[in-house]
Amino acid sequence: PIVYHDFEFVLESKAHFDVQDRGVLFADGVYEVVRFDRGKAFAMQAHVDRLARSMAGIGLEGVSATPFAELSYELLERNQLSDAKVYWQVTRGPAARDFVVSESTEPTVTLIAYPTQPIDLDAPLAVGAGHIVEDCRWTRCWIKSLMLMPASLAKTEAVKAGAAEAIFERAKPGTDEKHITEGASTNVFIVREGQLCTHPDDGWVLGGITRQTLLDLAKHLGLPIREDAAFTREQLLAANEAFVCSTTQLTAITSVGDAVIADGTPGPTTQRLHEAYRALLLQGG
Ligand code: PMP
Repeated sequence: PIVYHDFEFVLESKAHFDVQDRGVLFADGVYEVVRFDRGKAFAMQAHVDRLARSMAGIGLEGVSATPFAELSYELLERNQLSDAKVYWQVTRGPAARDFVVSESTEPTVTLIAYPTQPIDLDAPLAVGAGHIVEDCRWTRCWIKSLMLMPASLAKTEAVKAGAAEAIFERAKPGTDEKHITEGASTNVFIVREGQLCTHPDDGWVLGGITRQTLLDLAKHLGLPIREDAAFTREQLLAANEAFVCSTTQLTAITSVGDAVIADGTPGPTTQRLHEAYRALLLQGG
């Protein structure tokens, strides 16, 4: 496979990181994952905008997010792919190891294309279990940072427990009440009291592009929405429906630990949103 690394398209085996890259030493960098179906990106502008926000969020300067769109299309062409997840990464670049960020580093840009299957309208909705893990991440989850250790360990624990996704729970400073924030690499939704509920996009979660797309679709379908308040573990367990979503998946959560959610099958709102979402993906957004 061909990747884009450090200003050029090269064979993956020829692309290397400087051992002193701050991405390697400090996880000092940000990323995005964009989905391409039949040669067309979904929500490209939203990814470009979020990359720009993430870079600004860590004070990473000198890289424009705009060219990532064109670079992605060229990467797909060079790999002769039309269905792929394209990973974008910007690190602050190499510098002698120092906690203090120097202003003179040259950022390292990397793009990798991972082949996927085209959207299949007949494929069944994915179903899995959730596994609750303490959310020990920092308080700037709106930045899509490379610092993914808490999410990686949580997901590993979840998969070991037979679950499809780790679901983070945390108490905000100054409060005792814990809330569900999001998944290791997904946003979490429930349906309760006839409303579609998800954690507010307030910095304690990543503002998922799929999250926003599904909220827009739900509005369009006339479904009542609640995104001004987080929900608790108890509300998740007692929900009528639950699901997790990201650029690469929409999975109905039918149990959490030993607790079965509702009747243990994907609910009607989840199914409806899944259908509407896939139709939108097929249209290319
Ligand atoms: N939350 C977290 C922590 C994530 O890592 C991701 C995906 N990278 C998401 C939510 C979902 O975001 P999106 O829908 O933009 O893929």
